[in-house]
Amino acid sequence: MSITGIKGMNDILPGEVETWQFLEEQARKIFGAYGFSEIRVPVVEKTELFCRSIGETTDIVEKEMYTFDDKSSNSLTLRPEGTAPVMRSFIQNRLHTKDPVAKLYYMGAMFRYERPQKGRYRQFHQVGAEVIGVEDPKIDAQILTMLVHYFDAVGISDVTLQLNSLGCPECRPAYRSALIAFLEARLDSLCDDCRRRYQKNPLRVLDCKSTGCKEATVDAPSVLDNLCEGCDTHFGKVRSHLGRLGTPYEINARMVRGLDYYTKTTFEMVTDSLGSQNAVAAGGRYDGLIKDLGGPALPGIGFAMGMERLVLMKNEERIEPAKPALFIAGLGEAASDYAFELMVKLQRKGIHVEMDYEGKSLKSQLRRADKFGSRRVLIIGEEELASQKAPLRNMEDGSQETLPLQEIEDMLLDLSKRDSS
Ligand code: ATP
Ligand code: MG
Repeated sequence: MSITGIKGMNDILPGEVETWQFLEEQARKIFGAYGFSEIRVPVVEKTELFCRSIGETTDIVEKEMYTFDDKSSNSLTLRPEGTAPVMRSFIQNRLHTKDPVAKLYYMGAMFRYERPQKGRYRQFHQVGAEVIGVEDPKIDAQILTMLVHYFDAVGISDVTLQLNSLGCPECRPAYRSALIAFLEARLDSLCDDCRRRYQKNPLRVLDCKSTGCKEATVDAPSVLDNLCEGCDTHFGKVRSHLGRLGTPYEINARMVRGLDYYTKTTFEMVTDSLGSQNAVAAGGRYDGLIKDLGGPALPGIGFAMGMERLVLMKNEERIEPAKPALFIAGLGEAASDYAFELMVKLQRKGIHVEMDYEGKSLKSQLRRADKFGSRRVLIIGEEELASQKAPLRNMEDGSQETLPLQEIEDMLLDLSKRDSS
C-alpha cells in the first residue's frame, strides 16, 4: 500500500500554487511599501514559549498543539501561530537596540491539532505582520489600512473589517468580574464548555457558537462600555484615524480573540462565504507580551491572515499557470536532437520552451503543445534541417511563417522580449 500524507495536512499542487504565489507576492509588495521587512523564524520552538504567551486556558494550548519530546527530552512544539516566535526572536536578537521601531512580516506553515474541515486544517499557512515599539494609535490605523489595502489589491471584496477593544490590565479585571457575575446568573443556558470555563475565561463565552450561549449573552455587558480612560481615548483615536484615511470598518463589541496576549485594539477580517470558518485574518495589540516573555516593555500590534481561506476565496478566478512561449516539435532523431539543443539554449536565456522528449508523431507532439497552451510551435524535420528553414506556427491566430534556422534564436529572443514587455 502506498504511503499517504497526514490528515489535515495538504499538498499544494501546480495549478493551485499559482494563486499562493500571487497572494504571497502581493503581500511582499504591499507590506514592503508600508515599511515592513521579512523575518523567518523556525517552525519548532520550546513548548514553554506558547504556553506563556498564548495562555494556558486557550483552545490552542489546551488541546491544539503538536507537542513532543525530542531525543534529549526537551518539550518542543510545532508553532501554532507566528507572533510568539517572532517576539522570541525580537527579544533574543535585541532588535530594539538596532531600531526603536520594528516592522516585521512573516509567512509560513502553522500547526494545530483541530478537526479538519473546509478552511480548517492541521497544517495551515499564515502571512502575518507585526509592529513593535509604537504606542500611538496611528499605527493601529495604519496596519488596519494595510490589511484592507491588501484584500483590495488581491481582489477579495467579500470581507468586512471588524474592530473592537479588549481593554488593558487596568480595566479588564473589572469588566471580567462584571461579565462573570452576568454569566453566573445564566449558567443553566450555557453549554458545557462555557460552564466549565466561564470563571477562567469569561470573554470566550461571548464568542461561543452554541445557540444557548448566544441567546444568554445578548444583553451581556459590553467591553466598550467598560474601558478605562486610556483605552477609551486610544480606541477613539484609532477610529478617527481610520475615518480620515477612509478605511471602512464595523464595530463588533462581542469580538474576542482566542489568544490571551491581546490588549486594546483587536480586529478580524470576516466573510460570509466560508461557513463557520468566517475569519480570514485576525489580530490586535499585545502591549504586555514582549515584557511577559522577558524582553523590554515595548508595545506591539499585528495580524495574521489564514492563507488557505484566502485561496478558497480566490478559487473562482484561478490564476493560470505560465504558458510556454514556444514548443519545438522535432521529427526524426537528428531533428529531435537539434530541437533539444535549441530548447535548452533558449531556456538558458530565460525563455520558457517545451518539447516532447519521446519524439512521437507530429500529431501527438502538436497535441502536447496544445496541452501546454504554447503560444508558438516550431516544426523541424529532416527537410527543415537540410534547408535550414522551418515553419513557426502562431497558435493564437493560426498564422505561420518560415524562418531561417540560424536566425531563429535571435528572432525568438526578440519575440519573447516583446511578449514580456
Ligand atoms: P478560528 O476562529 O477560525 O479558529 P482563530 O481565532 O483560531 O480562528 P487565529 O489564531 O487568530 O485564528 O489565526 C489567524 C487566522 O489564521 C484565522 O483568522 C484563520 O484565517 C487562520 N487559521 C487559524 N486556524 C486555522 C486552521 N486550523 N486552518 C486554517 N486556517 C486557520
Ligand atoms: Mg481557532
